[in-house]
Amino acid sequence: NSDLILYVNLELVNKKSDRRYIVEEMLGQGTFGQVAKCWDAETNSYVAVKVIKNQPAFYQQAIMEVSLLSMLNDKFDPDDQHHIVRMLDFFPWKNHLCITFEMLGHNLYELLKKNNLRGLQLQFVRTFSRQILDALIVMKGAGIIHCDLKPENILITPKVNSAAGVKVIDFGSACMEGKTIYSYIQSRYYRSPEVLLGYPYTTAIDMWSFGCIVAELYIGLPLFPGASEYDVLSRMIEIVGGQPPDDLLREAKNTRKFFKHVGSIYPGNEAHDGLCSSYRVLTEDEVEARDSKKPKIGKWYFPRGRLDRLIFAYPWKNLNEGNLPGFISSIHNW
Ligand code: ADP
Ligand code: MG
Repeated sequence: NSDLILYVNLELVNKKSDRRYIVEEMLGQGTFGQVAKCWDAETNSYVAVKVIKNQPAFYQQAIMEVSLLSMLNDKFDPDDQHHIVRMLDFFPWKNHLCITFEMLGHNLYELLKKNNLRGLQLQFVRTFSRQILDALIVMKGAGIIHCDLKPENILITPKVNSAAGVKVIDFGSACMEGKTIYSYIQSRYYRSPEVLLGYPYTTAIDMWSFGCIVAELYIGLPLFPGASEYDVLSRMIEIVGGQPPDDLLREAKNTRKFFKHVGSIYPGNEAHDGLCSSYRVLTEDEVEARDSKKPKIGKWYFPRGRLDRLIFAYPWKNLNEGNLPGFISSIHNW
């Protein structure tokens, strides 16, 4: 949107004081708007200002971001100890909602790219993972689901006593547990089985994304890259070594997107009293016939060695129970 690009080198005017935020450079842009590095003339410090697109739907979702994040900051992490970004202020500006945040460093995707996608040293994987988990524990306590945890939404914190650290950002897709409205959430590579299969979801979906991120920090490339949801689910089944159980597939809304119904039986003397169905994964040809385009399941091209050192143990049955750290049960020398 060319309108937004004009922000560079202009001033964002806050109603409290004219020309408070001077835009220095663009830090990033996403679905919701643009983020600019600004000089805050009132506090004499740098801040990151997220300028939300000037459309009502984005404005509404940004109000959600502001309210969830202020609740997290003020009520659940008053002393800024749990690796969640601090929101400083928010204000309307020409029909855009602007949110100011503390200024942080590069995101983890940028860090992985700088490292030529070869993966980080284990000590950093370990430190970052602990800190992200710390943030997730607080979010779970608050009943908040982030819904878009991925390397782009985890930023390096400026070095304090040269200790490396990260913070979770971007609550622009977040919602309260038990008030889940949207079914199409999370970025595809980090999308949980619950969301793919169309199953009620909880804060456990962030834990799935977390598992994917830890693996990616270690191997340098996404664990479940896929051009389609079918592609991502196929890779999960391959890595986990088995498909979700039939009773789960029977309940999920999107089962038919990925599986073919291969039979129903009335169990005889078993405890069930209903119909039991079984499913098999659709073949690539079946998906192609349905979607009239070939699923693009590319080759995995992980750096030698590192993937072999991850051990996967994911209990499909416990979907939604929040015990997903078992997904990556151990990394040797962890
Ligand atoms: P979106 O909802 O559009 O994805 P984000 O809040 O994730 O917006 O911000 C987009 C990008 O801007 C991030 O991936 C990050 O690179 C950069 N960014 C966001 N917040 C900050 C911040 N506080 N400090 C530095 N960079 C930031
Ligand atoms: Mg983002």
